[in-house]
Amino acid sequence: MDRQQEFVLRTLEERDIRFIRLWFTDVLGFLKSVAIAPAELEGAFAEGIGFDGSAIEGFARVYESDMLAKPDPSTFQILPWRSETPGAARMFCDILMPDGSPSHADPRWVLKRTLAKASDMGFSFYTHPEIEFFLLKNRPEGNERPEPIDGGGYFDHTPHSSGHDFRRNAIMMLESMGISVEYSHHEGGPGQQEIDLRYADALTTADNIMTFRLVMKEVALEQGIWASFMPKPFTEHPGSGMHTHMSLFEGDRNAFYEPGADYQLSKIGRSFIGGLLTHAAEITAVCNQWVNSYKRLWGGAEAIAGAGGEAPSYISWGHNNRSALVRVPMYKPHKGGSTRIEFRSLDSSCNPYLAFAVILAAGLKGIEEGYEMPPGAEDDVWALTSAERRALGIQPLPQSLDEAIAVMERSELVAETLGEHVFDYFLRNKRSEWNEYRRQVTEFELGRYLPVL
Ligand code: GLN
Ligand code: MG
Ligand code: MG
Ligand code: MG
Repeated sequence: MDRQQEFVLRTLEERDIRFIRLWFTDVLGFLKSVAIAPAELEGAFAEGIGFDGSAIEGFARVYESDMLAKPDPSTFQILPWRSETPGAARMFCDILMPDGSPSHADPRWVLKRTLAKASDMGFSFYTHPEIEFFLLKNRPEGNERPEPIDGGGYFDHTPHSSGHDFRRNAIMMLESMGISVEYSHHEGGPGQQEIDLRYADALTTADNIMTFRLVMKEVALEQGIWASFMPKPFTEHPGSGMHTHMSLFEGDRNAFYEPGADYQLSKIGRSFIGGLLTHAAEITAVCNQWVNSYKRLWGGAEAIAGAGGEAPSYISWGHNNRSALVRVPMYKPHKGGSTRIEFRSLDSSCNPYLAFAVILAAGLKGIEEGYEMPPGAEDDVWALTSAERRALGIQPLPQSLDEAIAVMERSELVAETLGEHVFDYFLRNKRSEWNEYRRQVTEFELGRYLPVL
């Protein structure tokens, strides 16, 4: 047993932890958990705990359903919302096949593989997500309309707002689990919140995002409200994005930073952006995986831009341009070398492991191929006419899940990054989601057509 494993076993004893939850993530980004007793843990560290993978979205075909969950001791945390003794703790797991090899269906493995590729090129990948979500008065039953907990807007400090207490409790809980929060504020929509996590390596960030979503749901339930990461629950308000700031490091040097260059952005940084823009359409299905995701990207960006719509619809980059897909944030000299790239299409309900993997793969491709980035779009891209956009060479992002799947299907980059199993499963699953959606007769159609046709 190694030192981390010993530390976990000792802590269980000292803190009277009787339940150990082994966490992992299915292909669609849902958290899965199996609880074991402390006596099982040594075996779990050595070989993993067996489970039936055929019951997990995207994991296995029935004839090869035996899988193992092997806990990663570096992710051990006590669960603060079960603080009564005996307590409960969690660890994230890697998923293995019965012969001990990594399962190709495991999203964590997909990201690890891509990080290993970066590491072969000499880079480590750091991310910092701005996670947006809505707080609703009740858990919406079936087709009920969501009711936000307040009518506040961007940075509003609403008196007596339960949003305030919520953010306070939520952040305390995150910090107690070792997840540092950098900023938090009320976002543009009523009941909408944003919490930004501190920079960490991408695998830790992805684990943290999975924990974050659960913690938000737990804290909301404690306060008798409901937290939702649905990308666009309201027609008339902005959706919930997960803008992600990223950088590559070579050792302890920020590889995107070059003093004196435009925006202090190095050749590596420019090529990374070139890769993101070139492959943006191909990776959209992974970054925006639901039918509803496209209501955020396209649902009235123009109409509600002023109200903090600000979700990207076009493939462009800008310096301080908040309509762009890629932004190079203002360089802050006092944060020496903090040059970073913000990718803005992601929504808060993506699978963070898969999304970070395809984003990183796109950026690395740009570096390998030495892509140069096109001129920046400093104007509001939405305000241009389509002829002006064409003249500037600015393409739209896919406008629906259907379009996004069609582009992804032809992408070698995404196939290679996700691996055949996840790639095929994902496309099959998403195509069937689209087909189910497409046959629905909607409220819009009934209201619009029934009275006049
Ligand atoms: N909610 C917007 C989005 O969907 C972002 C608003 C902002 O942070 N500027 O991307
Ligand atoms: Mg923000
Ligand atoms: Mg925001
Ligand atoms: Mg942002």
